[in-house]
Amino acid sequence: MHVVVVGGGIVGLSCAHALAERDIEVTLCERGSIGGESTQRSAGGIRTQFATRVNIDLSLASLPIWNEFEERFGVDIAHRQTGYLFLTREETTAAEFRENVVLQNERGGQSEYLDPSELTAYAPGINPEGFVAATYSPLDGFADPNLAAQGYAQALGDDVTVLTKTPVEDIVVENGTVSGVETPDEHIAAEMVVDAAGAWAGQLGAMAGVDLPIEPKRRQILIANPETPVPEDAPLTIDLDTGLYFRPEREGQALVGGHFGEADPTQDPGSYDKTMDFDWATAALENASGWTDHFGPETTVKRGWAGLYAVTPDHHPVIEEVLPGLVVAAGFSGHGFQHAPATGQLVAEIVHDGEPSLVDIGVLGSDRFEEGGLREETNVA
Ligand SMILES: Cc1cc2nc3c(=O)[nH]c(=O)nc-3n(C[C@H](O)[C@H](O)[C@H](O)COP(=O)(O)OP(=O)(O)OC[C@H]3O[C@@H](n4cnc5c(N)ncnc54)[C@H](O)[C@@H]3O)c2cc1C
Repeated sequence: MHVVVVGGGIVGLSCAHALAERDIEVTLCERGSIGGESTQRSAGGIRTQFATRVNIDLSLASLPIWNEFEERFGVDIAHRQTGYLFLTREETTAAEFRENVVLQNERGGQSEYLDPSELTAYAPGINPEGFVAATYSPLDGFADPNLAAQGYAQALGDDVTVLTKTPVEDIVVENGTVSGVETPDEHIAAEMVVDAAGAWAGQLGAMAGVDLPIEPKRRQILIANPETPVPEDAPLTIDLDTGLYFRPEREGQALVGGHFGEADPTQDPGSYDKTMDFDWATAALENASGWTDHFGPETTVKRGWAGLYAVTPDHHPVIEEVLPGLVVAAGFSGHGFQHAPATGQLVAEIVHDGEPSLVDIGVLGSDRFEEGGLREETNVA
């Protein structure tokens, strides 16, 4: 069998790797460079604290691969499990936190519900005033997305042909079944095509006549030299009410990001503004200075960037054979880096075995949107 994977981000790389492990011949087509789009713009967060069963399960199925990445792939991805701390000032969100913690622990997580008085034990730099609840899990943390992409890319064996600077311009469908793709240089015949095109996944689907409600949304990140350094063992901390988060970078620096203060129009993935907006950075740091000790007036912004989330209406991906011969693995809505390991395995199972088994992903089909979608994932920034 020959499979074409479209997209050389972390999801496409993981799919190609898992397919090749099953001795399937793979061609990976990437219109730019490997890992050069959302993957390299990610904050690298890896967490088990989600609000829905399927997102928690995707995390728990991915975590062993992140934990053993260096042994398996020979690259140290700087995976640091310093925890994730979610904060809220809203009683309704606090009630959701309680339910989320129960669900996370039922599925195999190690989450805790915290009262504000307990916060500073987990993150000494946080001012608990105003917050009514928090959750924490020591399983959570972050890694370097560039190194992870590099690890997967290096591990692709001789069974994978990697074509960079190769856009897929059409998906060929014959008698209702996918038979290959067109690139500027050639027709590539394939029994299966995997749409792992991230923010472009909807465009790919349209080539095969499939409507995927996956919208590219711009998100920003800044790297700051905080007035008070952020310790290397501080958790990734999210104010869920505003969508603002920060985590330690190296040497006391902080990575700050989230949908804080953002208008949320759908972007053209080919021409969106990839630079950080300084007004946004100033407002984000000013807000963060109100609830942490780190970002006082001496804080400086070192650099920043913007990237795209591929967002679905319920903040869950589509992982499904949507048409005979076309498997979609996209729409991760801001958590596709961390879910890539499990996703690659699931896509390989769909292609090789006819159905997925690692995680029950029956709810991730694209027809769910006609029925209103899943319970929305609310633990997102
Ligand atoms: C600011 C920011 C912070 C984030 N933080 C986190 C986080 O903390 N944790 C987390 O898990 N996720 C995070 N994400 C989300 C994460 O980056 C994405 O979910 C993940 O990278 C998706 O990987 P991908 O391979 O699907 O997409 P991409 O990395 O975008 O790869 C898709 C690839 O498809 C290629 N492509 C598109 N069209 C074609 C075509 N026609 N032919 C050939 N190739 C094509 C593109 O060039 C691209 O390289 C963040 C994203 C952003 C923007």
